[in-house]
Amino acid sequence: MRPLFGAIEAGGTKFVCAVGTGPDDLHDEVRFATTTPTETLGRALDYFRQAQVKHGKLAALGIGSFGPLDLDQKSPTWGNITATPKPLWSHTKFATLFRDEFKVPVGFDTDVNGAALAEARWGAGQGLSDLIYITVGTGLGGGGISGGKLVHGLVHPEMGHLLLSKVAGDTFEGLCPFHGHCVEGYTSGPALEKRWGRKAYDLPPDHEAWDLEATYLAQAVLAYLATLSPQRIILGGGVMEQKQMFPKLRAEVLRLNNGYIQSPALTPEGLGGFLVPPGLGNRAGVLGAVALAESALA
Ligand code: ADP
Ligand code: ZN
Repeated sequence: MRPLFGAIEAGGTKFVCAVGTGPDDLHDEVRFATTTPTETLGRALDYFRQAQVKHGKLAALGIGSFGPLDLDQKSPTWGNITATPKPLWSHTKFATLFRDEFKVPVGFDTDVNGAALAEARWGAGQGLSDLIYITVGTGLGGGGISGGKLVHGLVHPEMGHLLLSKVAGDTFEGLCPFHGHCVEGYTSGPALEKRWGRKAYDLPPDHEAWDLEATYLAQAVLAYLATLSPQRIILGGGVMEQKQMFPKLRAEVLRLNNGYIQSPALTPEGLGGFLVPPGLGNRAGVLGAVALAESALA
């Protein structure tokens, strides 16, 4: 019998929980709003207690979470959310709560590292040893795989907080409380809404907002390219649902690279396969948690 995995996609807005034996077999998926830690984590614990009654004992659990997170295995606070700007959630015990309750290995990582892993296993990153997954939504986050391994280190990547060079004459302060004009502060859905005074999905496809958005995202892409040298960059999240964004972004990356980094991927013909949407669509998050559970068991 295939082992049963539990999966938690822990977002700042909502939680998604599911159980299953793999990406093609997820059941009983539930979603609920992220409220207080006690209430939200209590609901998730209850969900898995009941899921075990219905489906049998879990073999492992995967959690892909909003951060920042303590991922240091030697740290006494491994598995916690650390100092997050999200009200009430700073220093919240998370992974160990589930490990102690269900007595199973728990794979715990950022939501975007999880999504990168799922895309590498089952989506748009199959066969690659080096890739990045970025989501442009309520925030901007990036995770990745380098040399076949999830990128960790001092903490974990914080690709959303890369500082941008402002386009001449741009006076927008940006939304990040720490940096103002970092890539998240400038290009997230809420940043678009603040700058243009209307919902991001109400901005018409030919609005100048998308050109500026592409210019700033291309700066970030170029920085990731220059530092991590990924073989492919996968971009998901609500903002990237705008169909005109991929062509605009590819053109801007080509322009900003200015012929410097040489690769067939960085040509007008190659960029279509270099900057791509998630192969798993909007399932990358929850499948990321499944991938983390699988890895924890292995
Ligand atoms: P989350 O980041 O919370 O997981 P999303 O990736 O859906 O969720 O991001 C939500 C943000 O993306 C909101 O700020 C919203 O305005 C923006 N957004 C969602 N859908 C679209 C769309 N089709 N076009 C432009 N912006 C969108
Ligand atoms: Zn920032």
